[in-house]
Amino acid sequence: MTDSDVVALAERVRDGELRLYELEDHAEPDVAAAARRHLLAEETDTDLSAVGDYTFDAADAESNIENMVGAAQVPMGVVGPLPVDGGAAEGDHHLPLATSEGALLASVNRGVSTIRNAGGATARVLKSGMTRAPVFRVEDVAEAGEVSAWVREHVDVLADAAESTTSHGELQDVTPYVVGDSVFLRFSYDTKDAMGMNMATIATEAACDVVETETPADLVALSGNLCSDKKPAAINAVEGRGRTVAADVLIPHEQVEDRLDTTSDAIVEANTRKNLVGSAKAGALGFNAHAANVVAAAFLALGQDMAQVVEGSNAITTVDAREDGLYASVTIASLEVGTVGGGTGLPTQSEALDVLGYSGGGDPAGSNADALAEVIAAGALAGELSLLAALSSRHLSSAHADLGR
Ligand code: NAP
Repeated sequence: MTDSDVVALAERVRDGELRLYELEDHAEPDVAAAARRHLLAEETDTDLSAVGDYTFDAADAESNIENMVGAAQVPMGVVGPLPVDGGAAEGDHHLPLATSEGALLASVNRGVSTIRNAGGATARVLKSGMTRAPVFRVEDVAEAGEVSAWVREHVDVLADAAESTTSHGELQDVTPYVVGDSVFLRFSYDTKDAMGMNMATIATEAACDVVETETPADLVALSGNLCSDKKPAAINAVEGRGRTVAADVLIPHEQVEDRLDTTSDAIVEANTRKNLVGSAKAGALGFNAHAANVVAAAFLALGQDMAQVVEGSNAITTVDAREDGLYASVTIASLEVGTVGGGTGLPTQSEALDVLGYSGGGDPAGSNADALAEVIAAGALAGELSLLAALSSRHLSSAHADLGR
């Protein structure tokens, strides 16, 4: 690309010949992004040289962004090795995390080394299902009951229609919910290694056509918010969405003192009063210290949909001072992750998935995304342990002052 190509393309926008979003139709994606950046820098009187200094080919990001001007670059670090004995994850893991929060990786890594010293974390995906819940209009509650009954009796017919749109997705169930003259159908799919939101949406649209043909219901919106995507929602906390995943560890009491600089009893008290009582008083959905920190940093590094950190924060942390050590667990109700599709194919995110060992489709299908969920849950457990320890030993503000400022 030459500067004159970029300026010539930018001139065509300025002359009204092209719209800003049409540039990729007339030039390579990197040239189009440069022309857009040139116009934006002039318009806003800014220097966008850092935004434009990215290393991947813009053509590789065409399905991920429109109106591209460059890249937002966030520092990436790593914690580990993190041993995870999972249903799918196995062995030591180096977990890439991207964040701008100083002290986060140091803290999580302290939890990771504590878990490692205790023999590693155990993790399991307990439930898996990506949901989409369209809303239909019916005449009245009698008709709502009729439509719900038809759906319950014809899940196999809906599955045939839904699964005709995908070679991987499988319809697991359809649950009707009625509010007056609105009928919501919550479709749940096994989406294997894909996070599955596009897959579930496309499949559900095909099933909705059948519902409209076979019943008096009229589709109002393909998403009726009972799904529930990218919004805090109790239904996800109770029923789960994406992967419901848990990780736990048993740490000998003397290791709590040596490695976390506090006692098991102090961690138990901090967890009870903060994560359980404090969260209850706040009316929170997540009863944890900062699970979203690890979820968000892992999502950013590993190409997940960042807005779904909302659901990923839906975690309960428990700790218990047992005779043989401190038992700690994190259960994330709705962790929506994938190792194919979405942002997982972007070059830096794909390299980060390679580091973790779970890039692309798994064998069997779904096992890579299960493993990713298990490692993130174990990472969240490490973060919970370290923060609870910092709070109970009153080291939190000094760690942030030393590392984050
Ligand atoms: P996708 O990239 O749209 O689709 C995943 C693709 O991977 C499918 O086409 C699937 O093919 C294929 N695939 C290959 N190997 C696979 C394997 N082992 N397991 C599963 N699938 C495999 O991704 P998605 O996960 O469905 O959707 C994620 C994207 O949706 C993200 O970009 C996210 O930001 C976006 N999103 C969309 C909505 C929405 O309402 N549409 C909402 C939120 C987020 P087959 O289907 O042919 O089997």
